[in-house]
Amino acid sequence: MDLKKLASTLIPDDNLLPLEEYEKQYPERQLEKGAEVTRLAPSPTGFIHLGNLYSALADERIAHTTGGIFYLRIEDTDLKRKVDGAVESVIRSLDYFGVNFDEGAEIDSPLNKYGPYYQRRRASIYRAYAKDLIERGLAYPCFCTEDELNAVREEQTANKEITGYYGKYAKCRNLSEEQIYANLKAGKPFVIRLKSQGDTSNKITFRDAIKGDITVTENDQDVVILKSDGIPTYHFAHAIDDHFMHTTLVIRGEEWLSSLPIHLELFKVLGFRLPKYGHTCSLMKVDNGVKRKLSKRKDPELSLDYYRSAGYYPKAVVKYLMTILNSNFEEWERKNPQADYRDFKFSISKMGKSGALFDIDKLNDISKAELSTLSAEQTYDFLNGWVSEFGTDKDRQHFADGQYIIKILNLICGIGGKKRRKDIVRAESGVRMIDYFFDDTFAPDYCYRFDKATVNSVIDGFAAVYSEADDNSAWFAKVKQIAADNGFAAEMSDYKANPENYKGSVADVAEILRIAVTGMPNSPDLCTVMGILGASRTLARLNAGKR
Ligand code: GLU
Repeated sequence: MDLKKLASTLIPDDNLLPLEEYEKQYPERQLEKGAEVTRLAPSPTGFIHLGNLYSALADERIAHTTGGIFYLRIEDTDLKRKVDGAVESVIRSLDYFGVNFDEGAEIDSPLNKYGPYYQRRRASIYRAYAKDLIERGLAYPCFCTEDELNAVREEQTANKEITGYYGKYAKCRNLSEEQIYANLKAGKPFVIRLKSQGDTSNKITFRDAIKGDITVTENDQDVVILKSDGIPTYHFAHAIDDHFMHTTLVIRGEEWLSSLPIHLELFKVLGFRLPKYGHTCSLMKVDNGVKRKLSKRKDPELSLDYYRSAGYYPKAVVKYLMTILNSNFEEWERKNPQADYRDFKFSISKMGKSGALFDIDKLNDISKAELSTLSAEQTYDFLNGWVSEFGTDKDRQHFADGQYIIKILNLICGIGGKKRRKDIVRAESGVRMIDYFFDDTFAPDYCYRFDKATVNSVIDGFAAVYSEADDNSAWFAKVKQIAADNGFAAEMSDYKANPENYKGSVADVAEILRIAVTGMPNSPDLCTVMGILGASRTLARLNAGKR
């Protein structure tokens, strides 16, 4: 068969360059020895998830600790999955977590010399290589229809055979020249398939950068390399792109492991040096005692947007992911509590080989601990950032008074006090925690444990003597007096010795006042809360809190 003629009939494009020209266009990168070139290669679906951040963090750390490059390539060969604004959203989402690209799609960088970074814009390179494979007898046109392929799959399933297009099932592999041209003449649509040279009885040992040695069998599937619209499949496009973009290390999800034999064969027939591959383990969670993969449908915490809209402190999420990425990170952190996580020596060999457990409680603990290292002003900035994007109009009005919020934060975080509190888990819950300091979001639950007459008498008694000028001890002396006046023990020790002599203790009296003023039985130091609210608001709340 005249393969050259066949190749130019199937791929008649006259804009294709000789292959060596592409090599010249994308010369080796000038990097230090040992520098790794990594990439994130998402489809522009608009859904960016924790798994993407997990591998992006590994990619970024490895590139940047070795003096390499981390770039963004958009795998947009499947138009059905394309969502407008998705690329910007990937960049913005990762930037929120401090993960930045050196070059790539929509990245403004002088390093952008290996683009275009959108696969659809690289069509001619893929076509040139597919044409070359046809000329070398390593690829062929396939005219099978969807129905024919389905019938083959059904037959294979019924026979309990491996499904796919291979061996005797690869009907178009051995079409004669006449048959091919007759099909073309009849206008039948076709795809281009790899003419696999592999044999599944041959084993290949492959060293995965994360999982270690893996044995796979050779590929024998005649996979599609160019679809009927001339656009490549992931298999073919990624091999060509990682070659020309000089990727040295491909970190991707373990769902790709089963296609690895195809990729090994493609690199071989294309004559490209194989990059290192590291397949990350899936993120798992324990659900009702059963360990399962995080799912897009069931788990909102899989989406990265969730962490932004719930107001997670980005550094906490990153630190948490570091603890699952590298088993020795936590110990390093304990020894270097002040250090930046970027000072940690990230190592791909310390990455987990199987199912990483994602534990939101642990993330929450890390988040609390991280937030408790901030000053009141820094906490304000963080909460305010969340409020301006995700808060309500009322939140925005409240946060306009920075001085007032900072006073509240000093109190609720215990800043300057004996013990720094760790109550704020994330911005959303932090903002809700201070709602009661504003009348328009004050939603009291008057859950008094005493009768109406007692409650009202305690409140009236205290309101009559309250003075904003009182310090903590003068304030407390007044509460004790009200306790004594109303049949409560002014001293805890008296109450403990003879509880039957009293209605309750001074603590119960303080609780009545606390419920009236804050709407809750628990709050930070009540005297300070009253001070922050100011006398007129405190007195109004006391009055409104009577039953
Ligand atoms: N586009 C592929 C995906 O989103 C990329 C896999 C890879 O990193 O090679 O899963």
